[in-house]
Amino acid sequence: MKEEYCDASETIKQSGLARTPQRMAVLEALILAIHPLSAADILALTAEKTKINRVTVYRILASFRDRGIIREIETGHANSSYEMACAHNPVHPHFRCRDCGRIICLPPLTLSQAWDWLAQPADFTVERIDVQLIGLCAECIKKDNGNTVASDNF
Ligand SMILES: [Zn+2]
Ligand SMILES: [Zn+2]
Ligand SMILES: [Zn+2]
Repeated sequence: MKEEYCDASETIKQSGLARTPQRMAVLEALILAIHPLSAADILALTAEKTKINRVTVYRILASFRDRGIIREIETGHANSSYEMACAHNPVHPHFRCRDCGRIICLPPLTLSQAWDWLAQPADFTVERIDVQLIGLCAECIKKDNGNTVASDNF
């Protein structure tokens, strides 16, 4: 039977990184995440399992990203979000709320869409695909409507 999630221990072993409790905790948080996680999210999620500080979380995230274990979703702010880059989580676009910064995963690309995007001059190398749709999430629309009504001075 096909596994539903990656095994953190196996993933770290295959990457050639040493298996430390901190790396295990960060990767487990990312494997189980439903939404992309920020470094702050990961700090909160790993606090009970292992002693880890912010600098270490950033260092671990960078090492996972550089080995292709995770994808970095740049948000235009200092805080990126991260998600697994494994077969369980094929490349897909993201929606970013420009108000609260929430990142929402959108359905995966079809293979033909991905090929269309990759069809470019041969002297380019594609290192990653990063598609983001930016707007307001449902909660911020509600919040905004509330504000508009309250501050309406036509
Ligand atoms: Zn996986
Ligand atoms: Zn929002
Ligand atoms: Zn995603």
